[in-house]
Amino acid sequence: MSSNFSDIVEPSYLSMMPQYHCDFCENEEQDKSYEFEITMSRLGFIYCSKCVDKARRSAINWYNSKRIIPFDFLRQNKSYQNDFLKFYRKSQKNIQTLAKISPYSATATYDDKYNTFRTVISFGPGAQEPYIAGQEVSSRLVSLENIMHHNPYVYEEIKKAKSLIDSDMFVVTYDDLSDEIEKNLEATFTKSKVEWNSFEN
Ligand SMILES: [Zn+2]
Repeated sequence: MSSNFSDIVEPSYLSMMPQYHCDFCENEEQDKSYEFEITMSRLGFIYCSKCVDKARRSAINWYNSKRIIPFDFLRQNKSYQNDFLKFYRKSQKNIQTLAKISPYSATATYDDKYNTFRTVISFGPGAQEPYIAGQEVSSRLVSLENIMHHNPYVYEEIKKAKSLIDSDMFVVTYDDLSDEIEKNLEATFTKSKVEWNSFEN
């Protein structure tokens, strides 16, 4: 095993790991290991109880370097758990209701092509939780200004969420995100105030 451990590591694919593996140290005392899934697609960190802060800082480093806003807070927040989002669905030229942040994304990533954050939204009768087998569910990438236009509370919730991520071990708040993400989010919120039928994505 490599001894090139560092405080900041890149996430890797989470597969079957030895019981006491840690991405940040040798874990010589064989503390319990924990998993943090950074994108809900099995990319993340395995860390021991001594390396919680290193895992937290590595997650923040990843979010900031990729210009990602974690979005798990909307599912974690009890006031919104049973609510659905709305967004303008360009292909149908109407407002799509019964929408949720996709459980398989849970992040909004800045896209230079569209100059905005985009996130995967699930919608349709099958988007409700718990999922009922056989109900239709669709998903697509939707811009954050589109989402914030129809659900303005999302902007304030990002800023005041006690944690943007789903972890019992550590929190990541809006204050941990970079000045660049903050600047991009402010611009996105300003754009969210335009007419609903002008959203191109
Ligand atoms: Zn460790």
